[in-house]
Amino acid sequence: MTARPNELRINEQRFWDTMARSGEIGKGRTAGLSRLALGDDDKQMRDLFVGWCRDAGLEVTVDAMGSIFARRPGRDNGLPPVLVGSHLDTQIAAGNYDGILGVLGGLELIRTLNDAGIETRRPIELVDWANEEGARFNPPMLASGVFAGVNKLDWALGRTDLQGKTYGEELKRIGYAGPAPVGGRPVDAYFELHIEQGPILDARKIPVGVVVGGYATRGMRIRIHGECAHAGGAAMDVRKNALVGAAYLIVALNELGWRYHPEGGRSTAVQIEVWPNLTGILPESALVTLDFRHPTVAGVEKMKTEFDAAMVQAAERAQVRMEIAEAWRFGDEAFDKDCIGLIKSAADELKIPCIEMLSQAGHDAYNMTRICPTAMIFAPCDKGISHNENETMAPEDAYPGVNVLMHAVLARANR
Ligand SMILES: [Zn+2]
Repeated sequence: MTARPNELRINEQRFWDTMARSGEIGKGRTAGLSRLALGDDDKQMRDLFVGWCRDAGLEVTVDAMGSIFARRPGRDNGLPPVLVGSHLDTQIAAGNYDGILGVLGGLELIRTLNDAGIETRRPIELVDWANEEGARFNPPMLASGVFAGVNKLDWALGRTDLQGKTYGEELKRIGYAGPAPVGGRPVDAYFELHIEQGPILDARKIPVGVVVGGYATRGMRIRIHGECAHAGGAAMDVRKNALVGAAYLIVALNELGWRYHPEGGRSTAVQIEVWPNLTGILPESALVTLDFRHPTVAGVEKMKTEFDAAMVQAAERAQVRMEIAEAWRFGDEAFDKDCIGLIKSAADELKIPCIEMLSQAGHDAYNMTRICPTAMIFAPCDKGISHNENETMAPEDAYPGVNVLMHAVLARANR
């Protein structure tokens, strides 16, 4: 070892230059990024990332879901690795930081350890999880879900985008259907740095959030079954318009969110598919994608009960049938006390102010809690704006989180 570990700091300029390079690939309409999973821009970013990892001396493997792992050996390579990362895919209208901060922050910490000649007891692995956003292939956090045993591999590979292309085909097309099995191997711990995507840290001018858990979230797709009929010929009392059923349901969902707003609840309808979606004919079917969230599990369960009742009422009112076609959940998982402790100690040693907080968004880290001790670090982003081309952050708001990540990972990898 050359540097005393507690004096170690990342190379800020190199890190920010690397972030800026990512910001050039898959540019958004007016600013930011639009780098959907398994698209051509995603491939270009992956190629660049793999090159950076190899330049840093890492051994790169890709699993059958397309997640990229880059391994830095330890002194004892029989020990399970400490995993660190996030995602390089983005929403369709996104900024340069969501997910990317955590992957490239992980790369920077490895480059810094290399520069300082620091070995660790355990290997450290950097991961870029495929399709975190779910913007193209629903549900979100798809590949980490397979890794953690939450999703089945075949089911995940068969997910389709709006053009009917499957995840598996698109993964092959971009050359990232890797040979490595998905998961099924021990991981010592998982650390993820991410922008907060909420306003708290920015408003309070605190550089590091220690994430102690998530908002309990229930997501689902509701299939609505109606019946085709003539838009003129069918009297009001015989109509079974699936789109009208969807409308009643979406309004009821939104009111559910408002009822729980005082205690931090929220509800979101994001997508509707309608068939046949043409003029002159009543829609036969609709598929609505939605979720609702609450700071507590008890709260989200109350919301679920009210949502179920609202679904029955909406179906009756539109004379249609509704069913939950798919459901997913996240945010109930507990983060690990020891890993949280390492993050806090790292912040204390570096004299970086931090607060404990909950994550309101979904993250791959939630899946990882099922198979290994997991923790997350938040960095502030401007006014909490995210999933928006105007998402932004100052470089000096990013560096503290990466330094804390580095010291927490270093401590864990020497355990
Ligand atoms: Zn993200």
